Amino acid sequence: MSSPPDIEVLVVGAGPVGCWVAAELCAAGVRVMVVEARENRAAWSRGFVVHPRTLEIFDSRGAAAPMLAASRRLPTWHFAMGASRLDFSVLPTSFPHILLQPQAQTEETLEEHLNRCGGEVLRGRRVVDVRQQADRVVATVRHNGAEQSVGARFVVGCDGAHSTVRETAGIGFSGTPDTLLSPAALVELKDPPPPERYLQGNEQGLLFVIPLPDGRFVVSTIDHAVMTDLSKPWTAEMVRESLIRITGTDYGLGEVERVSTIGNSALQADRYRDGRVLLAGDAAHVHFPMGGQGMNLGIQDAHNLAWRLIAAVRSERDGGSPDTVNELLDGYEAERRPAGERVLEDVHAQMGLVAATGADGAALRIRFEALLAEHPAVNLQYARRLSGIAVRYPTAQDGDGDDTENITDARLGARVPDLLLERDGAPPVRLYELLREIGPGRFVRLTVGGPADGADGAEDDPEDDAAVVTATAVTGPAWALRDRWDTPGSVLIRPDGHVAEARTW
Ligand SMILES: Cc1cc2nc3c(=O)[nH]c(=O)nc-3n(C[C@H](O)[C@H](O)[C@H](O)COP(=O)(O)OP(=O)(O)OC[C@H]3O[C@@H](n4cnc5c(N)ncnc54)[C@H](O)[C@@H]3O)c2cc1C
Repeated sequence: MSSPPDIEVLVVGAGPVGCWVAAELCAAGVRVMVVEARENRAAWSRGFVVHPRTLEIFDSRGAAAPMLAASRRLPTWHFAMGASRLDFSVLPTSFPHILLQPQAQTEETLEEHLNRCGGEVLRGRRVVDVRQQADRVVATVRHNGAEQSVGARFVVGCDGAHSTVRETAGIGFSGTPDTLLSPAALVELKDPPPPERYLQGNEQGLLFVIPLPDGRFVVSTIDHAVMTDLSKPWTAEMVRESLIRITGTDYGLGEVERVSTIGNSALQADRYRDGRVLLAGDAAHVHFPMGGQGMNLGIQDAHNLAWRLIAAVRSERDGGSPDTVNELLDGYEAERRPAGERVLEDVHAQMGLVAATGADGAALRIRFEALLAEHPAVNLQYARRLSGIAVRYPTAQDGDGDDTENITDARLGARVPDLLLERDGAPPVRLYELLREIGPGRFVRLTVGGPADGADGAEDDPEDDAAVVTATAVTGPAWALRDRWDTPGSVLIRPDGHVAEARTW
């Protein structure tokens, strides 16, 4: 067998997902190389929405503050572009809102975070091939017209929807093809609609408007008259015609800087892992950007994958068993592929609503909006799903991954929120501040109202390098107490913030 490669993880693609996985790995001391095909980061933004669970993840690593300071928070969001909003303000999180932030800005913040964690993006380097050997992967990287071989223990394909890593690993991308096209246009509106008309629909279709901090707007329509014409991309003139068709006005459409054409294909990688090759983000799943979920889903993939890769690399460094590595990395697919499936399903449901035509479609949307407006429990359920905080993973104690099923302890498998901890003789502290200090790659055993070990058998825990946090009590926030996070006992928190085990004194 050849000697182990110097680079432990090669991350292909420095979009938001690649930057996040690389930052986690670098902060944990893994030797990482990040290669990116583009010479410069894209100046334009595809997306705008950062969801609550993603903000929690960023906050638990100290990366949320610059975004929160710079961008607008919205306490409500939409399902299927409906005017009845999902109420995020009641969500049990410290971030009960979405953040409206151009993706280019999110990417800049994440690259800066990666740099602070000790990593850098090597630009102008395109991976054109990936080959697996027994103990490594060898990637061919094209740079300045020359090709170079890069060996690494693992390769993570964060190279977007047309992933070369996925294709060369022979992993299929399956699902449903485009059946409709829609525009996303960056425009000037001299006579914009009032905020309560940013989302509007009728028998002609739907309009969706996002105001940007610089005074411009992103405008999108689901235009029933032309949406199924897949023969040509959207143009500025088509956007104007569509606005008039749906709303009766073009809202003073001025300069149109860019028009993207978006399809509703929904595809998912058949496997998220093939040996030493892993996929995350758009390389693993794509769907219509309804609800602004793709980047969020991808960052949550990255957060799950990173701690598993850190543990896998450490295990190989120590000459550990291949079974350990397999268990860790198969767990990534076992948890994140279903999470992706659930998002794709929600997007399909939303597309079904918005694309239903004529009087039947309009009535269906009115009925669904009434459900969201009149039934807070339904509204909450959808808000939890879109926000990302509903995700829970099966645990050894309780093996069900859907948060609506029978669960003996609702904390099991769920993500731990930012609890306010009381400690003897010390000022109260927020859990996420402690997680920041502990950093990526470590389990945390949080004990509340009792001893750090002994009484609960914590010393027998297999995660014997878990950081121990003790609190005399959990005193807030109020919603955390409602959700039983103040129960005296202990929880074992995985490095991605999900609860692996919960015990009550
Ligand atoms: C109109 C629109 C609006 C959207 N709105 C939202 C939103 O509001 N919220 C949200 O969460 N999501 C949104 N999305 C989805 C979001 O943009 C994507 O899910 C997100 O960019 C995926 O991130 P990624 O890092 O996986 O891939 P990408 O952002 O695509 O990054 C992949 C990177 O890999 C590089 N690369 C590709 N091939 C190679 C190679 N062979 N070698 C080296 N580098 C390579 C690329 O240059 C690129 O930089 C939207 C999408 C669209 C189209």
